[in-house]
Amino acid sequence: MDIIDLRSDTITHPTPAMREAMAQAEVGDDVFGEDPTVNRLQDMAAAMLGKEAALFVASGTMGNLTSILAHCGRGDEVMLGDKAHTFLYEAGGISALGGIHSRQLPNQEDGTISLEDLRAGIRSADIHFPPTRLIALENTHNRCGGVALTPQYGEAVGNLAKEHGLLLHLDGARIFNAAVALGVSARTLAEPFDSVTFCLSKGLCAPVGSLICGSRAFIERARRIRKQLGGGMRQAGVLAAAGIVALETMVERLSEDHARARRLAQKLSAVPELILDKGTPQTNMIFCNLHPHVPLNAPQVAERLRERGVRVGAVGERRFRIVLHYWIDDHAVEKAAQAFKEVLQ
Ligand SMILES: *Cc1c(COP(=O)(O)O)cnc(C)c1O
Repeated sequence: MDIIDLRSDTITHPTPAMREAMAQAEVGDDVFGEDPTVNRLQDMAAAMLGKEAALFVASGTMGNLTSILAHCGRGDEVMLGDKAHTFLYEAGGISALGGIHSRQLPNQEDGTISLEDLRAGIRSADIHFPPTRLIALENTHNRCGGVALTPQYGEAVGNLAKEHGLLLHLDGARIFNAAVALGVSARTLAEPFDSVTFCLSKGLCAPVGSLICGSRAFIERARRIRKQLGGGMRQAGVLAAAGIVALETMVERLSEDHARARRLAQKLSAVPELILDKGTPQTNMIFCNLHPHVPLNAPQVAERLRERGVRVGAVGERRFRIVLHYWIDDHAVEKAAQAFKEVLQ
């Protein structure tokens, strides 16, 4: 039985074109800067994000960690959202490995942090306080429902950061989903940021890897930190080759995932046992809760769906995350909706 796996876009396998490119990739020692395929991927990423340079890293987590370590010293403070991936799901790396203090400010439902909260969060030059160094945002915002942050908001935070001499990092794991959903370029979304991380291994379907983009000087510092973290890879061109195919062929098609997400959400909204979040989906993720009258909890429903060949994320006692991606076609959308109906009705 073919499993319809809607738990995440991280489960996406490489496409046949990616496997072919991986097999053919020209490689060299990337710690020496001599892997032509890695170099090509980095140049493409920098150009797409409108930055001077880019660095290939093993994961989004390593990308955020490396970036924040490159911006902040021990005892410096980073302001980020209380639902940020970096705060919730990166094993506390910035504090464990960098001694970087995090100031968690409330994420609004739309994934933003209010400008008032950011302004009030900036520390004065008092020796009691850790110095504020960095603001980190996330786009699309995962825990806030895969919502896309607008270029206007990014610009407003960018102005605030400049005004106060702060640096600005973007966890843009799914920045291309945001760009496609908003009808703007990733370059426009990235413009106000000193550094941007994005993932190849999610909706773009590459098997491994993320990129950090920023100024040449920043990327040089990041390169040393990546080495410190054990992330200096050698013939990484076999991985980068899939990333090149991802950037060339998988970005624009993300709109298909968004359209299927809307179609599936429409079908699920007709199931009275499910309550969809207001405004879901904005990109490729649907968030919904079980109606209070349903006797089963979310893990139990997920288990019964699984018996019918459909996997979804139970992300709380009564909450689901359903993620659309390249390997989910129209037929799979039908089958997933049907499975929910069978389990709940
Ligand atoms: C997936 C994700 C990451 C981390 O990526 P990994 O490659 O899994 O380490 C970072 N930020 C966001 C918003 C993500 O969704």
